[in-house]
Amino acid sequence: MAITHRYDVLVVGAGGSGLMAALYAAKNKNVSVAVISKLYPTRSHTGAAQGGVGAALGNVSEDHWEWHMFDTIKGGDYLTDQDAAEVFSKDVIEAVYELEHMGLPFSRLPNGKIAQRKFGGHTREFGKAPVERACYAVDRTGHMILQTLYQQNVKEGTMFFNEFQVLDLIIEEGVCRGVVAYELKSGELHVFHAKSVVLAAGGYGRVFKITSNALSLTGDLMSIYYRKGLPLEDLEFYQFHPTGIAKLGILITEGARGEGGILRNNSGERFMERYAPTIKDLAPRDMVSRAIINEIREGRGIGREKDAIFLDLTHLPKEIIEGRLPDITDFSRTYLGIDPVTELVPIQPTAHYAMGGVPTTIDGEAIADDAGTTVRGLYAAGEVACVSLHGANRLGTNSLGDLIVFGRRAGVAAAKYAASAEFEEMPADAARDSNTLIERLKSGNGKENTANIRKELQSSMMDNVGIFRTGADMERQVQIVKELQARYKLVSVTDTGSKYNTELIEALELGFLLDIAEGMTASALNRKESRGAHDRADFPDRNDKEWLKHTMVYRKSEGNVQIGYKKVVLGKFEPKARVY
Ligand SMILES: Cc1cc2nc3c(=O)[nH]c(=O)nc-3n(C[C@H](O)[C@H](O)[C@H](O)COP(=O)(O)OP(=O)(O)OC[C@H]3O[C@@H](n4cnc5c(N)ncnc54)[C@H](O)[C@@H]3O)c2cc1C
Repeated sequence: MAITHRYDVLVVGAGGSGLMAALYAAKNKNVSVAVISKLYPTRSHTGAAQGGVGAALGNVSEDHWEWHMFDTIKGGDYLTDQDAAEVFSKDVIEAVYELEHMGLPFSRLPNGKIAQRKFGGHTREFGKAPVERACYAVDRTGHMILQTLYQQNVKEGTMFFNEFQVLDLIIEEGVCRGVVAYELKSGELHVFHAKSVVLAAGGYGRVFKITSNALSLTGDLMSIYYRKGLPLEDLEFYQFHPTGIAKLGILITEGARGEGGILRNNSGERFMERYAPTIKDLAPRDMVSRAIINEIREGRGIGREKDAIFLDLTHLPKEIIEGRLPDITDFSRTYLGIDPVTELVPIQPTAHYAMGGVPTTIDGEAIADDAGTTVRGLYAAGEVACVSLHGANRLGTNSLGDLIVFGRRAGVAAAKYAASAEFEEMPADAARDSNTLIERLKSGNGKENTANIRKELQSSMMDNVGIFRTGADMERQVQIVKELQARYKLVSVTDTGSKYNTELIEALELGFLLDIAEGMTASALNRKESRGAHDRADFPDRNDKEWLKHTMVYRKSEGNVQIGYKKVVLGKFEPKARVY
């Protein structure tokens, strides 16, 4: 028998978006709020965010929210919904001040105002030159956001269920009634009955071999949503960050280029001058990552295998490198034995951010079909969600902004809904499917193991659905994923214990990754154009006439995928060619 709990509002995930949602739900004194997280909250990936949160404060030079809105839409290759971009660019200014007032220790200018630096794709006067828009706390911005929001939640009385892994969402007759979670410490299943649920469970970078993402980012809740036949939006758009530490994928923040860092090929050339003459190394990430791979393909890479590029910071003063980028200086010294003050750092693009996810309205309500019907009582925010702010390519610093703006909106909306709703009946056998899933893995015959399948999935996704794509590669990947899904059915765990069974957790997470890979590959194969992070050699141009629309991928049954579409919300910025 599963253990049962009851809260008005349940938040799944304790990263920046989950903690912001929980905090604003908890401020509504008519509702009880609990957060469920598979990690201890302050270990969430938001804590790894380095470079900053973008907001047009104008502390260093003139800036306006309209310029930020424009950059976000252009950066997203015009697939961004313009209503979301407008709300975002305005609200993020106030949200940053709110964090400041909660005590977040931002880096400061000599006049005491919040310090700001340049970041890719952020410009003044609609593309004229880079502008200082990223507010930062050295290169530990996400860490500070997470700590600040956690403290505020403790103060507000939010209840936390840490190291509880959600395995199922209970949705009946179009109404979300709660979730089922597995307690890591005891191995017991818990049913959480709720009036509203906010999904804030982060991304799925672990579907790729080289990634900046933490081990825990396996797309669990996106996958659970998808398994119910509900749509995921724009999954084909996955961002590769240009500067991961070569071979390891550990991130070197774009803030390094924001502070003046330069990319160089094997002859020392600043090659970005050829690709983006106006903003050079600060072009959006999709363009810089493609430029790097292009340099490598044409033989201008560095290192023994010529498969990396140099990031050069050596012309910058030591105080800037060590003072404003202390963590990445440390990473470089620790993992590479290279001192960025005097030496060039080898880098390589690394899988970084999911633009797509659970489709939502601008109030975070989860969308169930192409027509925009919402699932009552279900909300999503942060990287798990797709409010269509980032379109086909997210700008650096816009995810942390997304978490605080749309996390707050989802929390407010979920609490408002819960305050006037009744608890809908929870089915007596709510935990049945989760129990079956676990028992199958514990009782199988062990012909296959998790690590092998995961390794094959990660390298094939990297090769076939990575930075450069073709129809033939992706067709092959559809088959590979099918085969891996079939083999996954033969996986069983050797540890059948109930306490901290990490082998079981990894097996469950592989199941989630495989399903995300299925939806992602199908979406990418279907989109016959190149836009933002989705680049196809067989369809090299952007095609607004046919493809200025969002993809909605549905699973009818395993291996049987159906594609639908949703309109892009256009507005004052007409789609144009992207020139930087
Ligand atoms: C190295 C790195 C640096 C970055 N730097 C920046 C930056 O400078 N600026 C910027 O704007 N963006 C940056 N990003 C992107 C940004 O940090 C992330 O997109 C964002 O933090 C995601 O926040 P989130 O709240 O959606 O999820 P996360 O912070 O990833 O948290 C996910 C939460 O969900 C929980 N969870 C997941 N699955 C389950 C489950 N099954 N059951 C229960 N709980 C679950 C986890 O325990 C966790 O608490 C960076 C990303 C990385 C990886």
